[in-house]
Amino acid sequence: MALRSFLEIAKDSDFPIQNLPFGVFQPKQDRPRVGVAIGDLVFDLSALEELGHFQSPEFQGRKVFSEESLNSFLALGRPAWRKTREILQHLLAADAPILRDDPIIRRRVFHAQKDVVMKLPARIGNYTDFYSSYHHAHNVGTMLRGPENALMPNWKWLPVAYHGRASSVVISGTGVRRPSGQVKPPDASEPIFGASKSLDYELEMAFLIGSGNSLGEPVPIGNATDHIFGLVLMNDWSARDIQAWEYQPLGPFLAKNFCTSISPWVVTLEALEPFRKPLPRQDPEPLPYLRAKNDFTFDIQLEAQLQTSSMKTPHVITRTNFQNLYWSIAQQLAHHTVNGCNLEPGDLLASGTISGSTEESRGCMLELTWRGANPLKLPNGETRKWLEDGDTLTITGWCQGDGYRIGFGDVGGRVVSAV
Ligand code: CA
Repeated sequence: MALRSFLEIAKDSDFPIQNLPFGVFQPKQDRPRVGVAIGDLVFDLSALEELGHFQSPEFQGRKVFSEESLNSFLALGRPAWRKTREILQHLLAADAPILRDDPIIRRRVFHAQKDVVMKLPARIGNYTDFYSSYHHAHNVGTMLRGPENALMPNWKWLPVAYHGRASSVVISGTGVRRPSGQVKPPDASEPIFGASKSLDYELEMAFLIGSGNSLGEPVPIGNATDHIFGLVLMNDWSARDIQAWEYQPLGPFLAKNFCTSISPWVVTLEALEPFRKPLPRQDPEPLPYLRAKNDFTFDIQLEAQLQTSSMKTPHVITRTNFQNLYWSIAQQLAHHTVNGCNLEPGDLLASGTISGSTEESRGCMLELTWRGANPLKLPNGETRKWLEDGDTLTITGWCQGDGYRIGFGDVGGRVVSAV
C-alpha cells in the first residue's frame, strides 16, 4: 500500500509524503530557516532539530536546519539527506502518533505555506547554464545558420555550456526588470542604446550541487549523482536583441545576467527515483568519460503559462518534458569537472531550454514565434512576439505517479518596465 500521512493532503497536491522537497522559508517576524513542503504546510526542520530529531551519526553533530540556506546540509552528503527523508516520512506517517496526537508540538513544527515567505534555497556561489536540448539547439541553429549547419560540430560530443552569473539568480515571484543595453537593428550601421524590445523566457530545470569536489579532482561519471542533491524549475530570462549583438565570440553576457528565476522547493533525487527513465542511446557514442552504465533521465512534465495584464487566467504556451534533454545530469556534472574544476555545495547547474520535437514543446518565444515571424495568438485576441511589460510567465513541473504526484511548485515572474 502506498505511503500515507496522517495529514490531509489533496490528491493533486505537488507535495505528498512521497515528495518532501527542501527549501528555506521565513515565518512572520522570525528568521529564515530550513523546511520541507508537505501538502499546503511547511514542516519546520529547525524546530524538529531543537526537539532532538537529527542526532544520528549522519549529521556529524552539526545543527544545519536553523541556517538561512541549505548549504551546510548540502555539504553533509547523501547519507544525511537520506536519513532526513527517512526521519520525516516516519514522523508524518499515518500510523505515527508522535506528532499526530500532540497538537502543541504540531503547532510548533507546521506553518501554513500561505503565511511564510520563501527565500532562495541556497547561497549559490556559481551558476552554469548548459545547452542540452537537441531540438532547442537545432531550432536556434537553423534560425542563425540554416538547417544544414544547425548544430555546431562539438554539440553531440560534449554538453555545451557557459558560466552564468550567480548574483542575479532570484526566487520565484521576484519582478523582472526589462533590461536596457546595446542593440544593433538589422538595417542600421551602428548600435543604439535602449530598453530591450525582445525579452524572452527560457523554460529550464537546474540541479543543486550537494557535496562538492576538490580542485584538480574530476568526478567520475559513475559517482556523479553522489554530488547532486535535487532539482528546481528555472526561467533563464533572455534579451534576444542584446544577445544577437553581443554574443560573438565569447557567448552570452548582459543578455542573460540581469535575472534568472528559480522555484523555491528543491525536489530530491530520492523523490524522483520512481520516475527515472533510461537515457536514450546517443549517436555518436560519447567519449569514455561521458559514458555511464545505466545513465538515466526523468519523466518530468513541464509547462510554461503566459498571463498578460488583461487576461483573467494564464494560458499554456509550452508543454514539454525533461526527457527531451540529450545530455544527462550525470554527463553534465562529469564534463564540468573533467578538467579538475571544483563544484561547491549550492552551485546551480541548469539544463538549457528544454524543447521537444513538436511546436507546442518549444521552450521559449524565440522558437515559438520563430524569432518574431509568427506571433503567438492568445485566447483573448492579443498577440505576442516577445514578452511585454505586465506579462507574467510561470513554469510548472510534475511527475505523475499512481495516485500521487511529485510536483515542483512553480517559478513565476512579472515583467516590469525598464528603468
Ligand atoms: Ca539558457
